[in-house]
Amino acid sequence: MKLILLGAPGAGKGTQAEILCDRLHIPTISTGNILRAAVKNGTPTGLKAKAFMDAGKLVPDEVIIGIISERLQEDDCKNGYILDGVPRTLAQAEAIEKAGITFDAVVSIEISDETIMERMGGRRVCESCGASYHVVAVPPKQEGVCDRCGGKLVQRKDDAPETVKSRLDVYHQETEPLKVFYAKRNLLKTVENQSTVEATTAAILKVLEA
Ligand code: AMP
Repeated sequence: MKLILLGAPGAGKGTQAEILCDRLHIPTISTGNILRAAVKNGTPTGLKAKAFMDAGKLVPDEVIIGIISERLQEDDCKNGYILDGVPRTLAQAEAIEKAGITFDAVVSIEISDETIMERMGGRRVCESCGASYHVVAVPPKQEGVCDRCGGKLVQRKDDAPETVKSRLDVYHQETEPLKVFYAKRNLLKTVENQSTVEATTAAILKVLEA
């Protein structure tokens, strides 16, 4: 299964991707997580990406295309993968298509900007493995500690309200057109965000079976 998860920042792509990768036994590839690790480790890519990320802007397409083409060639991608947060622009989608990479489905998680603004304040991520939590909706077993790896849970710098607003603008302008791109290829499936994580997972699995 080769899957793309689309949706605004905070729609729950990361959370759903983690659940789906356990269920479907395929890796999740999150460019956001790859970039955050690069920033943390001070790599050349991280140094290039940091200012864009802190401002809630998109990292240049050529950086993302480089990251993704390398990552998809790794062994664990042989049986499929879930792309979380990529592609995010038409140029990225076109580059992926040009590289001969095909998909079984593109699932767009639909959610209002208002709900996202309410939600982002409670989001926490593991600074070691990137797993995401929410203080109310998806709390860790122990406050501030990642269930998966024991890493420290932190609030993302780009989850500040002003930055979330500009990330939403970027989403509507740059990423939303991808729905039309993939609908034209008969790959687009839309799922309404549900009131619980489990219900959204069930809705995604249902459209994938259809
Ligand atoms: P995310 O964790 O997916 O919300 O990504 C966090 C930040 O990383 C974004 O706001 C962008 O600055 C950058 N980023 C992640 N994925 C991409 C992408 N596919 N294209 C451009 N920038 C990206």
